[in-house]
Amino acid sequence: MSIAANNPQLVSWVEVPPGSDFPIQNLPFGIFKTRYLGAVAGVAIGNHVLDLVYLHENGFLDGLGLPAGIFNQRYLNNFIALGRKTTRAVRNRISELLSAEVAALQQNVAARELALIPMQEVQMLLPVQISNYTDFYSSEEHATNVGSMFRDPKNALLPNWKHLPVGYHGRASSIVVSGTNLHRPKGQIKLPDSEMPVFCPTQKLDFELELAFITSKSNALGTSITTTEAEDYIFGFVLFNDWSARDIQQWEYVPLGPFLGKNFGSTISPWIVTMDALEPFRVRGPEQFPHVLPYLAYEGDKSFDINLEVLIEPQEGEATTVCRTNAKYLYWNVNQQLAHHTVNGCNIQVGDLYASGTISGPSPGSFGSLLELGWNGQRPLQLANGQHRKFLEDGDTVIIKGYAERNGIRVGFGTCAGKILPAL
Ligand code: CA
Repeated sequence: MSIAANNPQLVSWVEVPPGSDFPIQNLPFGIFKTRYLGAVAGVAIGNHVLDLVYLHENGFLDGLGLPAGIFNQRYLNNFIALGRKTTRAVRNRISELLSAEVAALQQNVAARELALIPMQEVQMLLPVQISNYTDFYSSEEHATNVGSMFRDPKNALLPNWKHLPVGYHGRASSIVVSGTNLHRPKGQIKLPDSEMPVFCPTQKLDFELELAFITSKSNALGTSITTTEAEDYIFGFVLFNDWSARDIQQWEYVPLGPFLGKNFGSTISPWIVTMDALEPFRVRGPEQFPHVLPYLAYEGDKSFDINLEVLIEPQEGEATTVCRTNAKYLYWNVNQQLAHHTVNGCNIQVGDLYASGTISGPSPGSFGSLLELGWNGQRPLQLANGQHRKFLEDGDTVIIKGYAERNGIRVGFGTCAGKILPAL
């Protein structure tokens, strides 16, 4: 598939510093506000945000069939719902306008000044109104680590795991944008040496490094989406931190799964990197054996080579990278996740969010949660300031970063950060 905006030869007239997540080949969409503007849609380029309301109102996006006011909205849902053909055309037009070889915006000094806003002057907001949220459990390494810790290292994976992408329905209302602080949650905890549960702040607060996709189209209740059709339903991806209170989770999760150990908050990165922008970074997925049922079979490269890392920044001292991994390790791909989710006739909606599950790699430094990195408190991590962590402490900020890179082109996600405040 050839997408004009992905051309690696393109150079923007807007300065893009080396190592930036936002070269002209990325152009992710988000919602921002400034001192002067309410919530409006924008695109990231280098250290700037391009104001799409300004571009649209001043004729730069003419001829693309966009409804009036489509970018002057609190959320991107209505824009995303216009469909892949339209959103791709918009991204291609923005790419042209930002290209060093095109004069229209570059040579219009007044328009340039108004359309480009320095990133430090904007506040990023939640980009979509999240209709529904599902969390999968698609990393074999993560499921194996957790199974080894809590059940049996010899039979770490449950019998269903290699036959279907395990998942559960999560809570959409408590998903927040990067930069939102969260209070340490309280709940019921059953300590091993006590017969009765206690109610107190969690003592095992954790992060989960995940990637999530956002859907752009709905299917009718009763119908299914095939693995081949799945990509038509996906607008793009964000970084996702599925904050987890392990002690609350461990006591509550049998028999129905995660509940209050998860639903106190989840954090996403503000820029939605489009499925189109990630096209050049496709890779073959892991071999799946035993063979999957026909409705989960797929053809082609459906995994993505995206480098991911997690840093912990304590209240005092610099941030320490505690995990480096890659989205390509995921066993189940997004096509299979969506096909499985709808195979029973479940209807998905525009603005749904589907998270991958914790992404762990094969080596200890690539585990995507503190539960695994510190092996449930047995091997505390040392931070750069000399402190140790079994689990998160008040004042810790968890920062997730991610980028894909090939042939000198780096398409990144920015950051997904959140700080833990003391329990209320
Ligand atoms: Ca999770």
